[in-house]
Formats: sequence, C-alpha cells, structure tokens
Amino acid sequence: MRYQSSEREPRNNQFTEGNSSNYCNTIFEVFTHGLGPEETDEVVSTLRFFSPKKVEVKTLEEIPQSFFNLIRHQYDGLSITKWVNSLRTMRDSVVLGVMNVDAYVEPLNFIFGIALPELNTATVYVIRLRIGVPKKEFLVRVRKEVVHELGHVFGLRHCRSKFCVMCFSNSLADVDKKDFRMCNTHYTELRNRLPCVSEELLLRT
Ligand SMILES: [Zn+2]
Ligand SMILES: [Zn+2]
Repeated sequence: MRYQSSEREPRNNQFTEGNSSNYCNTIFEVFTHGLGPEETDEVVSTLRFFSPKKVEVKTLEEIPQSFFNLIRHQYDGLSITKWVNSLRTMRDSVVLGVMNVDAYVEPLNFIFGIALPELNTATVYVIRLRIGVPKKEFLVRVRKEVVHELGHVFGLRHCRSKFCVMCFSNSLADVDKKDFRMCNTHYTELRNRLPCVSEELLLRT
C-alpha cells in the first residue's frame, strides 16, 4: 500500500495561477540516495516529459538516522519528504527525492512514494521496485512512480483506469499493470497546469 497526501484539492500555486510566462519554467531539484548512475539517468530522463527549464541532481550521502524506525526497520516517508524539501535551494522549484530505501507512512505498511503538493515536493522509494524483475523493468517501474508522484505535485488525483499512471498502486502487480503515461482526462488536466508537458505522457487508447 502507499499513501498520498494529495487527496486534497489541488492548491493554487505557480502552476495554476499567475501569468503565462510562469508556465513551463519548472526547475527540478532532485536528491538521490543509493542510486546507480543508470538509475539516476532514468529519473532525469523521466523529468524531460515535464519540459523543465532546468534539472539539478544532487546525491545525498546519508539519510538522517532519526528518520529510521528501529521497530519497523523502515524510514518515515513523511519526515524524509519534509527534510528533502528543506534542502531546496530555490523557492519555486519542484523537489524530488529518489531513494533506495524502504519507507512507510502511518497507517500503511509501506509506500512506493509520497507527494506533498503544498511543498512542491515528492519522494519515491525504489527498493521494493527492484523485486522480481531485471534492471530494465525496474527502470520502467521507477519511471512510473516518478511520473505518478509528480502528477500529484502538479495537482492530479488518482485514476480509476488501471492503465493510467495516476492509478493508485497497492502492489508491484498494480505498478506493472499501469503505463507510465496517463489517460486523456489526466493528461488534459496536467496540460492545463503545465502547457508545455510532452505529448509522450498521453496514453492513446
Ligand atoms: Zn498516488
Ligand atoms: Zn487517469
């Protein structure tokens, strides 16, 4: 299971208001932990769908041990996400953390990721995505989870279609079933907020 904080109404932010010169000026600040170079490349290449102005990648040497729950042997995803947000160097950037650890948010037993749209921040936890598949398929799963969480950051909610990337994933089987692209409804919604989003994110059925 996983938790999203984004079930609330999308807030007004720089993606939904202001003049059009603000659109498509997205700067991503990416913080990785425990990813190989090829894996980091996959994350960065996924961000291209959002047509960013700039992508900055930083490697985190460690995650504070205070976020590690010694009873659960998992990290506290909410605390990590707030912490990663605090590492931002730009006020209006979108912050994405991608970490090779296992995380939870109460009351769920684990999460693949979490988005805090009010902070313009999301985190993805990839360690479970490695289970049972070779590298290539693992990277596809990473792509899906990154698009999903960023979709939340840009105000999208969950989808009923099992194939839309915005479908809630309860398991790896759910992740594998969905596409990294989104249904027409979600794509249109995203495009309204982010006019420069790539058509490659549209799932044509
Ligand atoms: Zn979600
Ligand atoms: Zn959808």
